[in-house]
Amino acid sequence: MQKKILSSLLVSTALLMTACSDSKTTTETKTAPAAATEVAAPAATAEFDYKLTPKKINDNVWCFLGALDKPTKENAGNMANNCYVKTGDAFVVFDTGPSYVFAKQAYAAMSKEVGADLPVKIVVNSHEHDDHWLGNDFYKQKFGAELIGPSLINTKYKAGDKTRMFKVLPENAIEGTKIIPVDKSIKEEYDFTVAGVDFQVIPIPVKAHTGEDYFLFMPKSKVLFAGDLVMNGRITSGRDGAVMGQIMALDMIKAKNWDILIPGHGFITDKTATDEARLYFTLTRDRIMEAIENDVDATEINEVVTLPEFKDKKMYDILNSNNVSYAFDEIDML
Ligand SMILES: [Zn+2]
Repeated sequence: MQKKILSSLLVSTALLMTACSDSKTTTETKTAPAAATEVAAPAATAEFDYKLTPKKINDNVWCFLGALDKPTKENAGNMANNCYVKTGDAFVVFDTGPSYVFAKQAYAAMSKEVGADLPVKIVVNSHEHDDHWLGNDFYKQKFGAELIGPSLINTKYKAGDKTRMFKVLPENAIEGTKIIPVDKSIKEEYDFTVAGVDFQVIPIPVKAHTGEDYFLFMPKSKVLFAGDLVMNGRITSGRDGAVMGQIMALDMIKAKNWDILIPGHGFITDKTATDEARLYFTLTRDRIMEAIENDVDATEINEVVTLPEFKDKKMYDILNSNNVSYAFDEIDML
């Protein structure tokens, strides 16, 4: 044991000697405890490295696909999807990730990918959950990008609030993240064009994943960015949502006749991308309606309705029984 302490002290001292300027070495090696703190300091302030690699979706769309997990110290909130669309000599960005550092590193990775530092003209946020928009401030500061997103971001959050990501992420990942308001919220479809590329922002008129959800559609290339209205490979979180609104949103998405769909969480982007979500919400609705008809009450609903078809999906154990309870409350009121 003593040997171990001694050798780690020697390592600290050696590190210190290489880290410090020559003139300071003599005095600081005499005070071992202070030396150990100083050696640790550079590692603690080094920026978290998200190790981001964009996945090329088609000729002008790339996405960063996050882990199928809750936010943790290890993933630092890289557990949601966000995308870049190259429009001539600019980018349109859909969702901005869990932190300023994340957005900065995503932009750096994209600049490397396309071989140029293109400006980000417009950012679209899918919904108010903070794994999807805390990178906004990076795009506003660096490019003055226009931020299009739900008004709930402005009404529920203000500068200085400590949202979930501020509590969970390591300091060197969340540091520098600022909550800023979005510039534009919509109640009806909003179309815009950047460098000849058309976009449609479609708001869901009812509560779906949250009280205010947008999806983004590119009518020419038929690429649809669904946000958390669609997830695959994992269970959704129904804490702010509504099953009936989710089914309506899935119908609106289907009506767009998309070829590629990027879920808010998940890796499946082909024609089957929405299958899991459709099955999850329709089974939930039908089984809860049946249970209510059979006089099952709130205290029994989690025994009667379990969605075993999804038991191997990520987050099932954490989220499913809560989702069923929320859905029971919703459908029982209808
Ligand atoms: Zn999310």
